[in-house]
Order: sequence, then structure tokens, then C-alpha cells
Amino acid sequence: MSEIQRLNFLLFDARNYEGITLEHREDVQAAVDILFVRADHLKSVYPDPDVFKPSRGVIESLDEIVGLTDAYLTETDADYGAFLTQLIDASDRSRRSLHTYLTTLSRESEEITARQTDALLSKTRFLWVAVAALSLVGLVAISLLRREIVARRAREIAEENERFLAFFDPLTKLPNRVQLQNKLAQYLEGRTKTAVAIVDVDNFKSVNDTYGHAVGDDVLRYIAEILELPAKTLNGFAARLSGDEFAVVLPTDDFAKLSEYCRAVISRAARPHKVGNDTITTGVSIGLATTSQISTSRQVEMSWILRAADFSLYRAKAEGRSCYTFYDNDLAAQLEERNAMLEDLPSAITNGDLKLFLQPKVSLPDRAITGFEALVRWQRNGQLVSPVQFITLAEESGLIIDIDKHMLSEAAKTLADWNKLHGTNFGVSVNLSGTHFANMQVVELVRAAIEKSGITPSLLTLEITESVQLNDWALVQNILCAFRDLGVKISIDDFGAGYSSLAYLRAIAADELKIDRSLVSEIHESEEAAFVLDSVVDLAKNLNMDVIVEGIENEDQARRVFDLGVSKAQGYLFGAPVMAKDALRNATAYQTEKRTAVALR
Ligand code: C2E
Ligand code: CA
Ligand code: CA
Repeated sequence: MSEIQRLNFLLFDARNYEGITLEHREDVQAAVDILFVRADHLKSVYPDPDVFKPSRGVIESLDEIVGLTDAYLTETDADYGAFLTQLIDASDRSRRSLHTYLTTLSRESEEITARQTDALLSKTRFLWVAVAALSLVGLVAISLLRREIVARRAREIAEENERFLAFFDPLTKLPNRVQLQNKLAQYLEGRTKTAVAIVDVDNFKSVNDTYGHAVGDDVLRYIAEILELPAKTLNGFAARLSGDEFAVVLPTDDFAKLSEYCRAVISRAARPHKVGNDTITTGVSIGLATTSQISTSRQVEMSWILRAADFSLYRAKAEGRSCYTFYDNDLAAQLEERNAMLEDLPSAITNGDLKLFLQPKVSLPDRAITGFEALVRWQRNGQLVSPVQFITLAEESGLIIDIDKHMLSEAAKTLADWNKLHGTNFGVSVNLSGTHFANMQVVELVRAAIEKSGITPSLLTLEITESVQLNDWALVQNILCAFRDLGVKISIDDFGAGYSSLAYLRAIAADELKIDRSLVSEIHESEEAAFVLDSVVDLAKNLNMDVIVEGIENEDQARRVFDLGVSKAQGYLFGAPVMAKDALRNATAYQTEKRTAVALR
């Protein structure tokens, strides 16, 4: 190995050498001193730089580094930033001239005679020291610079992240709701013909439950990709709204083009998609609305077009999923009605237009009425509106909290008064929306209803549906514990209607399981439904829960569920929900009828 190659390796090693920091000022000073001496020596060896030109650059840059470092190390309040920049520049120049010097030297060394060996050795010795010292200075500079760069980069990354999170969804990298609104506002202000599509992943919850969240995330990324590429081709964009909901904005109101986009997206989404070891098949439902459908004369309001597209999505889902639906006149009328309801609902609560209806609950062995379920009705424009039409609306707008509060206090008061007045011991079940499980306020609501009405807490049952999300697991447990401390009972409503899971049953640890009427209505036609019902009854018994079946409409059903071991029931057979004031009279008549029937037997 030639001396020159050895020097190159040394240089390489020196560059990779870690750990030279500001604390090693003395080392730097020593290296610079050596450099100074050697540069001086080099000048004396080559008094006329023209004789050996390449060395001139090295000498100059070495001089510069020495001067700079000396100045920086001796001055107490030297400008560190400026020093660093100059040092890096000088260092770079020095490296470049050193490289030229070494290659020239290498070329020359081939022709060098034995006479010149001594001279060369002296040069290479100088170079060894020069390179090592230069590397040392360079490394200190690089290490300082690196620190500065790392800190600045960290700051930039944090700022970039913040900017990104404000406008983009970190999972799919698509624009988020904020950016969607900004961009859509521009389209609408500019009166561009625009279509908004709201896209929902079919059965996403079951993908998450079955395969886990990592696979769920992958599916969302996959759907994002499917939506984004063709949207860009049409000069539009896709955004993620929340969970499994996306929006696509396209600058067109051409139904043919939009239909083509939707068909392409739906068919791509339906293709089996490989995630790890699993092959997943998903589907998407799409609801669309265009600006021209809403207004051709005025600028379209953003909330209108978004709601219109959302409304179309409901219908796409109702039509069996994996399909797309356009907004139309029917939906427009429904949407208008919905907006009107939303406007009227707050005053309905305060004006007392929400009425308490009660439906009896019976014990199956003796058919005696044990209590009632409280169900709300809205007296609106001379008609009674079913809760099916406004509960979801109330949940979305947050008004459900006041509705449930009202129903809870009315129901507790009515039943407490009856029991006191007639010496009865009727219980009452009240429906609680999942919305309440976002904070502890619901506990105060229940406590206040008990205190104000004077009802025996064990006669009050809170029916909660499986839609209660267990995201904040600790909070849900705290609420349930507080309910238990109050002495009220918990019932899981609509069990078997869709999302039943054993994990949910264990987590909630309720007193009662209420089996959804869809299971009851099927027990005659389907052996499977009977089997499921049988298993659920067994399960509930093992978990120490009472079982109540709802939706019993005939004797046959009553007998079937009784034979399966169900002890309590509710349904039109025993009484439909009626105004509270009629419920007691009906109940008394029912009990008398029942007693007569038993006496006649
Ligand atoms: P739910 O809690 O499952 O209530 C039972 C529903 O089934 C009631 O509908 C009831 O009228 C109906 N039903 C009872 N027996 C039979 C039967 O034999 N056959 C059939 N086909 N149906 C029967 P409703 O009163 O329309 O209430 C619908 C849903 O609205 C309720 O379902 C409940 O989830 C919700 N809801 C009602 N009132 C309130 C309330 O005050 N607060 C909350 N958060 N939700 C409520
Ligand atoms: Ca219920
Ligand atoms: Ca139910």
C-alpha cells in the first residue's frame, strides 16, 4: 500500500471518528498549532508556490483555518454562527485543494527517482499530520454544525408536523375536514359546478372487530388511495372526514361522469385486498349531491351540500350498501323536514311537547305487570311523532341530553307517585342514549331524578344500547360504578340487533339483558334464531343477568320464549306504549282481566 493510499484510509477513519466536541478545545488548539508549523514549513519548502502549484491552495486554506480558529478561541464573545460558517467554507476549500494536491502528488510519485524519496517522505509526513489535524478541525466544526442542524431540523419537523396535522389526516395523508372545508368554500365561492360525494366504508366496525385495528387502518389507507387517484384525474380531491367516512369533491355536475367515478370506486373497493395473511373484501357506499341540484341561481351553502350528500348516503346504505345514490327531490323534502325538526326540537323540550308514553313489562310465568318502559313521543302540529324520526337527530345535535333528562325525571316522578298512591311496586325503565357516556354528568342527572321523585332506586332501570362505545373504557366503568352506588339497575337494550359481542356483555356487567325483537320475530321461521335465543338465555344466566324479550305480539311467541327459559317480556300482546295517564288504567284492566281468566280456568 502506498503512503498516499494509507493517508486516504487515515483520512477516512478520521472522518468517521466520533466524539470530538467543544470540550476538546485544547486538542483543537494543539492541532491548529501543528497546522501552523506545518504550513510554515510547507511555505519554506516551496518558497515559490508556482514551482508546485497545487500546494498553494492547501497552504492558503490552512492559513485561513489557523487564523479563524485562533481568533475564535482567543476572543471571548466571538460570533459563533459566523465562525462556524467561515470554518466550514475554509474546511471545504482545504479538503478540495488537499484532494488535488494528493492526486498530483500521486501522479508525480510514479516518476519520482530514488533521489526524491526523502523529499516525498517529508511531504507525506506533513500531509499525515495536516490531514489528521484538518479532520479534527473539520470534525469539530461538523459536530457543532450537526448539533445546530439537528436542533433546527427538529424544530422544522415539529412545525411541519403541526402544519400537516392542522390540514391533513395522518393515517391516510389525505386532506382533513378543515382543509376540505377551505377548499370546498373556494369552489362554492367561485361558483364552480361542484359535486360532493360522502363515502362510507361498509361494515367497517366488523373489520376492526374481526381483524384488529392495524388491519382496519390498512383498509382505510386502501380506500383513501382508491378515492384519491381518480378524483385527481377529474381535477378534484378526496378528504377524510372522520373514522370510516370520506368526502370527495369534484368540479363537475355531470351525472354520467360522477356515476362512472362511483362505479369505478365501488368495484375497486370490492376487490379482495391482501393485508398481511388475511384477504379482506370491503365495500363502500356513496351519497352524492351537486351544486346545481341545490341551487342554480344562488351560491350554495357548504352545510347544505354536505348534508345533502350525507342524506343521499343514508339512502345508499338503506338500499343495501356498495352502491351510490344521488340527491333528489324526495331527499330534498326529507332534508327540509329534518332541518325544520332540528329548529323546533329545543322549544319542544321546554314547552312540554315531549310526552311520556309507557309500555308494560310482564313476568312470563304469571303474566303480571312488573313495571313499564318509558318511551318518548313528540306532540308536533297536532300529531304524535315517533322517536325513530328524531332520536338520531337529537343525538347528532346534542339535544338528546335534555330529552333524556326530561324523560328520566317525568318517568321517575310518575311511577313514584303511582306506587305511593296505589301501594304498587312498579319499576320503570328509561332509555339512555350512548351520548351520555362521554362524561360523568349523567350520574348527576340520575341522582337528581331519584332525589326529586323519591323513587326507590332499585325500581329504576337504565336501558343502554350496544351503541355505547367503549373507547374511554375507564370512564364508562366509572359511570357504571356510580350507577351501581346509586342503587339503580342497568339493562342492555336491543341485544342481538347487530353488534352483539361477548366482550361487551362482560364489560358492562348489567342486571338485565333485553333481547331485540328481531330475534323474536324470527323464531318461528328460523331454527337458527331459536338456537341463538336459546344460547343467549344460557349465556345471560351464566352471567347472572335477567332476560327480557321485547316485541312479543302473539301467544305463540310468548310460549316459545317462556319454554326457552325467558322470565320477562314486553310487547303489543301485553300492551302497546300509551300516554302515561292511560297506562295505569290499562294496567289495572289488564290485571283484572288476567285474574278473571285465571279464576275461570
Ligand atoms: P326501544 O328502546 O327498543 O323501544 C322499543 C320499541 O319497540 C318502541 O318503539 C316500542 O313502541 C316498540 N314496540 C314495543 N312492543 C312492540 C311490539 O310488540 N311489536 C313491535 N313491532 N314494536 C314494539 P318506539 O317507542 O318507537 O321507540 C323507538 C326507539 O326510540 C326505542 O327503541 C328507543 O331506542 C328510542 N327511544 C324512545 N324513547 C326514548 C328516550 O326517551 N330516550 C332515548 N334515548 N331513546 C328513546
Ligand atoms: Ca329500550
Ligand atoms: Ca329495544
